Amino acid sequence: MDRARRDATPATPALEMEPEAFRRLGHELVDTIADFLESVPRRPAAPDVSPRAVRKRIESERTLPEAGSDPGALLRETAPLLFEGCRLNGHPRSWGYIIGTPAPLGILADFLAAAVNPNLTAWASSPVPSEIEAQTIRWLAAFLGYPETCGGLLVSGGNMANFVGLLCARRAKAGWDLRRDGLAAPQAKPLTLYASAEVHTWLHKAADLFGLGTGAIREVPCDDGQRLRLDALVSMIEADRAAGARPFLVIGSAGTVSTGAVDPLPEIAAIAREHDLWFHVDGAYGAPAVAAHRVPAELAGLREADSLAVDGHKWLYQPLEAGCVLVRDAAALPATFAYRPAYYHDPVDPAEAPLNYYQLGPQNSRCFRALKLWLGLRCAGAAGYRAMIERDIETAEALAGAVAAEPELELATRNLSIATFRFVPEGLDAGAAEAAGYLNALNQALLTRVLKSGEAFLSNAVIGGRFVLRACITNFRTQAADIAALPEIVTRHGRALDAEMRPAALR
Ligand SMILES: *Cc1c(COP(=O)(O)O)cnc(C)c1O
Repeated sequence: MDRARRDATPATPALEMEPEAFRRLGHELVDTIADFLESVPRRPAAPDVSPRAVRKRIESERTLPEAGSDPGALLRETAPLLFEGCRLNGHPRSWGYIIGTPAPLGILADFLAAAVNPNLTAWASSPVPSEIEAQTIRWLAAFLGYPETCGGLLVSGGNMANFVGLLCARRAKAGWDLRRDGLAAPQAKPLTLYASAEVHTWLHKAADLFGLGTGAIREVPCDDGQRLRLDALVSMIEADRAAGARPFLVIGSAGTVSTGAVDPLPEIAAIAREHDLWFHVDGAYGAPAVAAHRVPAELAGLREADSLAVDGHKWLYQPLEAGCVLVRDAAALPATFAYRPAYYHDPVDPAEAPLNYYQLGPQNSRCFRALKLWLGLRCAGAAGYRAMIERDIETAEALAGAVAAEPELELATRNLSIATFRFVPEGLDAGAAEAAGYLNALNQALLTRVLKSGEAFLSNAVIGGRFVLRACITNFRTQAADIAALPEIVTRHGRALDAEMRPAALR
C-alpha cells in the first residue's frame, strides 16, 4: 500500500483515496470502533493524564511534516490515542457535568452525514436534508408538547441555541429597529433581562458578546430549592421600568445545570405576558424530561415559552454537536437573521416556501446535525425515548437512595436525573468553626481523587457555600451495579483523604 501510493502518478492529489482503499480502511476502522465500544465498560471512565504527558504522547513539539503519510497507518496510530486520552462519555459510570451517552446509531449517522457532506444553507443546496431538519424540529416539538407550528433549527449546542433565543427576543422586544440602528440608536433605552442566579453562564457570554453588557443581567435570587423567586422577579422588573430601562426578556431554567432545579415556568410565563417580556426557556439539560412521568409539574410551562433551547447531545443521547432551538413564532427567525446576498441564485419557486437555513440563524454553511437526531427519534420512537429518560430519573433516585443509606454520605439535592451529595467523615465535629471550610476542602480533594482513579466520572456543584459532588444520569448504559458501587468508591477515597487531611482542631 505504501509503495503503491508513493509510486502513483504524481498527478494523484495527496488527499484522494481510491474507492477500494476507502472500503478497506473504512471496514478496518469500523471494526476498531466496534471493539472500542465493546471495551468501554472495562476502561477508566476518565483518564489520569496530565497536559505534559499528553503533549509528549502526541509529540506536540514535532514540526509540521513536509511529506505525507499513509492514511491507514495514521488511522491505526490515532484511534488508540483517542480511546486512551479522553473521558469516555459512553462509559456506564460517566456521570459528570451533563453529557449524553452517544447512541451508536448517531455515530453512524455522523459518518454518513460527513460522507454525503450536504451544506444546509440554502434549501437548493441540500433539499432532502433541509426537509429532514424541518421534520426533526417538528418531531422534537411534538415530543416536548411544544406547538408543532414553531420554527427552529439545529445549532452547535445549548449555548448557541440560547443565543438564538436571546437574539430573537431582543429584536422582537427592543421597541426600535435594532437590526438597523443598533444599541446606540437615539431612541434606545437600556435593555435589561432576568434569570435566576443559577442560570448557566451562556447568559453572561451572550450579554457580553451581543453588546448588552453583563450589567444588563438581573440575577433574580432563588428559593431554598435553587428556583427563581417570583416576587423578586416582579419587583426587579418594576424597579427597572421605573428607572427608565426596557426589560425585554425573562429566562426560565427547565433544569439548572448545577442541581437540575426547575424554575416555576408557568408563573414566569404569566409574568412575562403581563409585562410584555419575551419568555425564553433554557431546556438544554431538562427539556426532554417534560415527556416523562414523575417530573415536576412546572416543567410543562416550557410549552408556553416564546423560544426554547434543547440539547440533542445531552438528554437525547446524540454525539456532539446537536444543539437545537425552537421558536414559537416561526417568523421570528427570519425577522432576526435573514439577509439575502446578491451572489445567491435561488432556483426554487418561492411559493413553495423553501427553508433557507442561512436566513434562519447565525450560521451560513451548516453541517447535517439533524440526521442523527432524526434517525434516533425514528429508531427509539417517542416511547423508547420516554423509557430511557424515565429510567435515568429512576437511576438518579436510586443513587440518591444509596447515598442517603450510607452514614458518611450526606445527600444535598435530587432533581430530575441529578443528585448531589458530600462526604462527611465519622467523628467530625460538624459544629466546629473550621468544619465547613474543612468539608469543602476535603470534598474538593475527594473529587480530584475519584476522577484520577477512573472508577467513576463525577463533577461538583456549590450549594449555599457547600462544595458537593454531583452525578447526572443521562446515560442509558448505567446499571444498578454501577450505582450500588458508588458509595463504596466515594467513602473509600474519602476516608483515606480524611486520614491525611483532617486538622488537629477537628479530631
Ligand atoms: C449544557 C448547558 C448549556 C450549554 O450547552 P452546550 O451544549 O454546552 O453549549 C446551557 N444551559 C444549560 C442548562 C445546560 O445544561
